[in-house]
Amino acid sequence: MLQIKNVSFGYTKTKILKSIDFKVEIGKNLAVIGESGSGKSTLLKLIYGEFDLNEGQIFWKEKEILGPKFNLVIGYDFVKYVAQEFDLMPFTTVEENIGEFLSNFYPKKKQNRTKELIKIVELEDFTKTKVKNLSGGQKQRVALARALAKEPEIILLDEPFSHIDNFKKQSLRRNIFNYLKENNITCIVATHDKNDVLGFSDEIIVLHDKKIIANETPENLYRVPKLPLIASFFGEFNVIEPYGIVYAHQLTIVEDSDLKAVVKQSYFNGNFWLIEANYNSESIFIQHKFELEKGFEIHFKIQ
Ligand code: ADP
Ligand code: MG
Repeated sequence: MLQIKNVSFGYTKTKILKSIDFKVEIGKNLAVIGESGSGKSTLLKLIYGEFDLNEGQIFWKEKEILGPKFNLVIGYDFVKYVAQEFDLMPFTTVEENIGEFLSNFYPKKKQNRTKELIKIVELEDFTKTKVKNLSGGQKQRVALARALAKEPEIILLDEPFSHIDNFKKQSLRRNIFNYLKENNITCIVATHDKNDVLGFSDEIIVLHDKKIIANETPENLYRVPKLPLIASFFGEFNVIEPYGIVYAHQLTIVEDSDLKAVVKQSYFNGNFWLIEANYNSESIFIQHKFELEKGFEIHFKIQ
């Protein structure tokens, strides 16, 4: 188990994280979400042992993770951190980058392992390409494969798919997260993309104002978003008194109801239209099957 015990940290006197406390069971996938600047990357770096804590302790199993004050070399063999800025060898090939940390003692084994990892990140066509000639998204995929190569016990993924285009993202996420589950690798993923979380994470912690403001399963967090900040992570939402926070898909346009609004704009969204409407002089958002004309009066109900 990974245990973060009452951790506080600041790069300067100003604290970035305060009284952070949570646990992750072996093999679980935990997502860390929060606005830009909320300390997601900092938290991952602390778990990696990159900085000394001001307060608190971090344990992996029985072992305490310590910062540079206590370690000549930063980091531990059992944890890999895939940063937002990837650390690759630009003048060598994809294959060499991924195989760098694998033992040369059993060449066949190394070759098979490299091949397996290249397949997970779907770079089969670029095996012999020098990393400097790859796109940002392809480099990010090499970084992911490199982190997996040495079979870490914990992997820390910092916005791991941010540079990867939508064409590739879906299958890549499934490949990576399924691989981690199958190999019982504990994963902590910092993200602001709900698609990195839903369907993959066992739990989510939400960082806000230096603290953890929620620690829930994705289902619970989604179903009962306690704050607009949390709802905004999942999608378009409204705050309608006395109902509270309601997602756009929880509003339905009906023939007749006491709730009335006037259409301002319709946005095409794939399998639905997002209708922006004026309700009590404020904008609300409703999912609807069709486009509606500006000025059209609608009635809606709340599920
Ligand atoms: P996130 O990953 O959620 O966007 P970060 O952990 O990168 O947030 O940053 C949290 C805060 O710490 C920000 O205010 C950022 O400016 C500050 N910060 C990050 N890295 C450093 C650093 N090396 N030195 C000083 N301040 C930093
Ligand atoms: Mg970050």
